[in-house]
Amino acid sequence: MADEVSVVSCLFCRIVAGEVPSTVVLETDRVLAFRDIAPAAPTHVLVVPKEHHEDLAALVAADPAYVGQVMAAVVEVARLEGLVGGYRVVTNTGEDSGRTVFHLHVHVLGGASLGLVAG
Ligand code: AMP
Ligand code: ZN
Repeated sequence: MADEVSVVSCLFCRIVAGEVPSTVVLETDRVLAFRDIAPAAPTHVLVVPKEHHEDLAALVAADPAYVGQVMAAVVEVARLEGLVGGYRVVTNTGEDSGRTVFHLHVHVLGGASLGLVAG
């Protein structure tokens, strides 16, 4: 869990709180899935824990069972979106990944052959 200041300013915490609009695909008690604002594939959904955790390593350290809830939501999003041909799951971690939002999010990409689509 990050300190209070970063949670207050965190974009995805603000989406979870409804302070920033998003197109919600799935909501459970602990997980929110919404459409990426700049889709890199025909279907591009972000799955986030509602609680602020900076990245996958932070969530594993804090609450490993929560990872299972996030990944179950990923599979449910793929089902809801009809990604029967397959899909790609990506979570960027650390500086080298080039990530831009410091609240764990799992990209679910599909709806096309993804060979040439950046993850
Ligand atoms: P990453 O590069 O892994 O940190 O991915 C961050 C993702 O968040 C990018 O794919 C952005 O397009 C997406 N994003 C940024 N702002 C928003 C927003 N307000 N609503 C939905 N997706 C967003
Ligand atoms: Zn956050």
